[in-house]
Amino acid sequence: MNDITEIRWHGRGGQGAVTSAELLALTAIKEGNIAQAFPSFGPERRGAPVIAFNRISAGKPIRSRAAIAEPDIVVVLDPGLLGIIDVTRGLRDGGVLIVNSSKGLATVNSEIGGPWKLAVVDATAIARDILKRPIVNTAMLGALIKATGVVNLESLTQPLEERFGKLSEINVQACSKAYKEAVVMEYSPGVKKAEKVYPIEKSLSWKELNLGFVVTEMGNARSYRTGYWKSERPVRDNAKCIKCGMCALFCPEDCIHQDAEGYFEADEFYCKGCGICARECWTGAITMVEA
Ligand code: SF4
Ligand code: SF4
Repeated sequence: MNDITEIRWHGRGGQGAVTSAELLALTAIKEGNIAQAFPSFGPERRGAPVIAFNRISAGKPIRSRAAIAEPDIVVVLDPGLLGIIDVTRGLRDGGVLIVNSSKGLATVNSEIGGPWKLAVVDATAIARDILKRPIVNTAMLGALIKATGVVNLESLTQPLEERFGKLSEINVQACSKAYKEAVVMEYSPGVKKAEKVYPIEKSLSWKELNLGFVVTEMGNARSYRTGYWKSERPVRDNAKCIKCGMCALFCPEDCIHQDAEGYFEADEFYCKGCGICARECWTGAITMVEA
C-alpha cells in the first residue's frame, strides 16, 4: 500500500455505499489517522450505480479531493454491477477487491479475478438475515476490515452506534458476521485481468443523449437500460390483482404493460427495481423480491 490508502466503493442508490465510506473515515480518524470520504454523484435515484471514495493516511497530509482512478482497494456492494461496469478499472497490482456475492470465491475469481487479493462474502444474505433488509453496507465494512486490516473491527462500534442509534446492535452483528464469513484469496503476481467490454461502456455518454427526451418524457429507461440497476424486482400475486392499472400509472420508467389476460406486467429489462409499484398497489398484490 502507499502512504495514503485509496478506496473506491461501487454500489447502487439505497445500498449505503456513501454511508460505508463515511463510517470508515470516522473509524480511521478515531484510530488517529487522517481520512476523507466523499461520493461521486450520478443519477441520484434508488437503484442507480453509485460510487464513493475514501483516502486514509497514517500521517501524510491528504491534499487531493479528486475522484480515485487508481485505487488500492475496491469494494463492490452489488453483485449485479460486475457484469455491467468495470469495477476493477485502475485497481493497482497487488491491491484488494472485496465483492458481495452468493456465488463463492472460486466462481467470482473466474469472473473477475486478476492481479489482486480477492475477498468474497454473501453480504446480501447476512443483511436479509440480520437487518431484514438488503442494505449491505455494514456487512461489507466487516469484509473490508478482514481483507485489508485498514482499521480495527472494534473501532467501528462507536461510529456505528452514533450513526444507527438503536439499530446499531444489529449493524454491529452484520459487520461481525461478514468479518467471520468473508473468504479471502491471496494476491498472485502475474495473473492477468480478463479483457471485457461492459454494457454501460457501450451506452451513450450524457453528452450524446437527447436531453430534451430525458428531461421532458417519463419512461427514459430505454436510454439508461435501467433493468441493469435493480437489486430487487416486483412479483405480482394474481389472486390479489384486480387489474386496475395503478402500478403502471405510477411506474416512473413506464415499463409496466398490460398482457393478453389484462394483468399489468413489469418489463424485466427496463424495471429498475424502485418498488414504487409495490407501494402504490392498493390491494397488496405486488411484493419486491431479490432480483
Ligand atoms: S396496482 Fe396492484 S391490483 Fe392494480 S393492476 Fe397493479 S398489481 Fe394489480
Ligand atoms: S415496475 Fe415497479 S419496481 Fe420496476 S421500475 Fe416500475 S415501479 Fe419501479
